[in-house]
Amino acid sequence: MGQLAESAIIGASMPSPIGHALAGVAVAWAADLIPGNRTGRTAPPTASWYRRAGNGLTLTCAFLAAAPDLDLLVDGTHRSISHSIFAVVVTGIVAAIAARLTHRPVTRVALMCAAAWATHLVLDWMSVDKLFAPYGIQLLWPADRWFISGWDVFPGTERHNIFGAAAIMTNAKSAAVEIVLLGPLALVLWLVRVKALAGFPSELTRRDHPAQ
Ligand SMILES: [Zn+2]
Repeated sequence: MGQLAESAIIGASMPSPIGHALAGVAVAWAADLIPGNRTGRTAPPTASWYRRAGNGLTLTCAFLAAAPDLDLLVDGTHRSISHSIFAVVVTGIVAAIAARLTHRPVTRVALMCAAAWATHLVLDWMSVDKLFAPYGIQLLWPADRWFISGWDVFPGTERHNIFGAAAIMTNAKSAAVEIVLLGPLALVLWLVRVKALAGFPSELTRRDHPAQ
């Protein structure tokens, strides 16, 4: 890793991509509980796990929930523009356009994607960040105000020298906390969602059946 890229990530100490992705999946499944056009989200019990979990849109939400940290690749921008309400709105607009082009329910997809991105901001806001000021996230970018709850719900991750023993231990512990806190939430949403979508009229699910 180059000196420049390395210097950009030393100060990072927020949840890991695992915690963020879990939150994104939880958002996708929670959105499926909201009545409306959910036909694209259903799959018969015989379908693959991937399709039953909501296929590419669920995966997209997981990616979007972790994506704000891609700003680590751009020196000096971490937790600023990508961690702002502005970015959430842009995500929603881009998702709406993509949904429109691919004939998916525009409002539903836009809100799901924007909400997935927003979970990243919430998790970072609730996390430990004490090493390098400014702490927290630049929520109202471009305004130079940084926000952090001070609740320290999620422990920090170590992104410097990540293959060192100390970093591996720190990150394993952080990932464990994230899974303990967010895993049960995702599990409950999964169970409720399976039940909710199973209640759909069979004509809605039949079109997704592989045998058709
Ligand atoms: Zn972040």
